This record gives sequence, structure tokens and C-alpha cells, in this order.
Amino acid sequence: MKWLEVSLTLSGELAEPAADILTKYAPGGVALAPIHPDAPSLVKVLAYLPEAEELPNIQRALEHDLWFLSRIKAFSPTPSYRWLEEEDWAETWKAHYGPLAVGQRILIQPAWLDPVTTERIVIRLDPGMAFGSGTHPSTQLSLIALEEAVQPGDLVADLGSGSGILSIAAVQLGAGRVLAYDIDTLAVEITQANAQANHVDQRITAQHGSLDELLGYVDDHPAPRLIVANILAPVLSEMLSAGLSKAISKPGAVILAGILETQAQEIFDSATAAGLSLEQTYHQDDWVALRYSN
Ligand code: SAH
Repeated sequence: MKWLEVSLTLSGELAEPAADILTKYAPGGVALAPIHPDAPSLVKVLAYLPEAEELPNIQRALEHDLWFLSRIKAFSPTPSYRWLEEEDWAETWKAHYGPLAVGQRILIQPAWLDPVTTERIVIRLDPGMAFGSGTHPSTQLSLIALEEAVQPGDLVADLGSGSGILSIAAVQLGAGRVLAYDIDTLAVEITQANAQANHVDQRITAQHGSLDELLGYVDDHPAPRLIVANILAPVLSEMLSAGLSKAISKPGAVILAGILETQAQEIFDSATAAGLSLEQTYHQDDWVALRYSN
């Protein structure tokens, strides 16, 4: 069978929503590939459609959806197309991938490549997954903040664990244990699977839930010293008013990400009201991450 490869080169922040759109048309065949390890903010989004009579309609529909996305944040929404003869397209797209260096110490590596020799901490992930692939600026900012914040033996909580990338990084950076929560059951499973693939599943407890479940946990257990939450500004604000700062030990730290620059003020206000002090602000593209102490 022939496959039509659909490809778009986008900024890291648009790559995940574009991948979401393409997943609708190419279930099981969408991938995000960093263009080059030195240009982590440019990402190639690839999707594979089987040859079929209705293909022109599918192409029209996906271009229409991409056009809508480009109205929110401008990019050129017309993909490039290329026919692949082989049936093994699933292998072909893997050739696009290379390792992605983030921060001073982290390397995200496609799970199927042999381990590379590097001084960096290696996180092995299947970048075909759309959430938490490491390409989004807010994930990269969270990783950079974790490099500075994790202390040896830390108990860490990861709220909104997605692929588990931040939980895995925290362990690799020296955390003793990570409590990973996500409200999406699929994300909980994927966090578990990726923790196993990185041989850190002994140290990561992935569970369904959010701040409420973490607050329940700290009622009768020692609280984490560090919380990382890469979700969205309105959710973070709500968490700050709902007692996020009570879920950390004293002294403790919180990393908040998923915040657009225009939303930072709202978070500053909620965090100050919760008694937290700003330690560091991290910027990439239009995104910020904030590191607080109590
Ligand atoms: N931590 C990963 C994934 C971030 S995507 C990374 O840094 O790349 C955000 C994740 O938060 C998604 O998996 C989503 O299911 C989850 N989420 C959304 N709202 C949430 C909430 N209120 N509590 C916990 N998780 C939430």
C-alpha cells in the first residue's frame, strides 16, 4: 500500500495542537520531530494517510482545520505532501528524529535509538505521543527549572504528568521519589510505561488525580519539597487558591509552567496571595515558567 506523508514545520508551541488536528485524520500515524538538536524550537509534524479514494477530501478537511489553527497563531497552514512507496512508513518517519538537547544537562532521545554516549542525562521517549514530547516551550522551561530546583533525595510531585517527561527528569536529576498525577487516565498509563522504559518506575508513582488527591496524601504523609505543574494558567491560578502551597514542605519550592507572558500577572497575584516568593522567571517564545519558594 502507498502512504501519503503530510509534513509541516512549525514552532514548538504550534506543533502539539497541529499534531492533535492531524491525529483526527491519521490515527496512529502522527509524529513530532525536532528539526535539529540546536534548534529545539522548530519541530516537524508528520502524519501518514493510507492511499484511498476519499484522500482528496481528507486533505481538504485537514487543511481547513489547520487554517483555523493558523488564525489563532499565524503560520503557513498548507502542508507538504510526499508519496511513500514502502509499506514500512512507520520506520521511515523514525529516520527524521534525532536527540533533542534541553537546558544544560538533559537530552531527550527517541526510544528506539541505541543509547548515545553523552555526559547528559538521557530521557528516552516515544515522540510520536502528542503531549509531553519535549518539543513544547513550556515543557522545555519546566525541564530547565527542574535542573536548578531538584535536590538529591527530594520527594517531588508532578501535577499534569502527561507523558511523564518531568517525573522522569526529576528522578534522573536526583529526586528520591516522584508522585505523578494526571486527570487523564491514558496519561497515567503512559507515564507508567515511560517510567518503566527509563528504568525509574521504582521511584515514580503515577496515579489518576490532581491537587485534591495530593492534599489528601499530605494529610498523613510527609509533603513533597518540590511541586512541578505544567498545565495552563487558569488551572494553576485555581490550584494556588485551592491550597497548592500547603502541599509542599517548608522549606519548599514550586515550578509553574504553561503560562503565556500575557497571563503571568494573574499568576504573580495568585502566588503572592498564597504566600509564595518568586525566585526565578524563565522565558521561551511567548511562554514563561516561574519558580517559587515558600
Ligand atoms: N508534564 C508534561 C505534560 C503537560 S500537558 C509536560 O511538561 O510536557 C498537561 C497535562 O495536564 C495533560 O496531560 C492533562 O491531562 C493534565 N491536566 C490538565 N488539567 C489538569 C488538572 N486540573 N490536574 C491534573 N492534571 C491536569
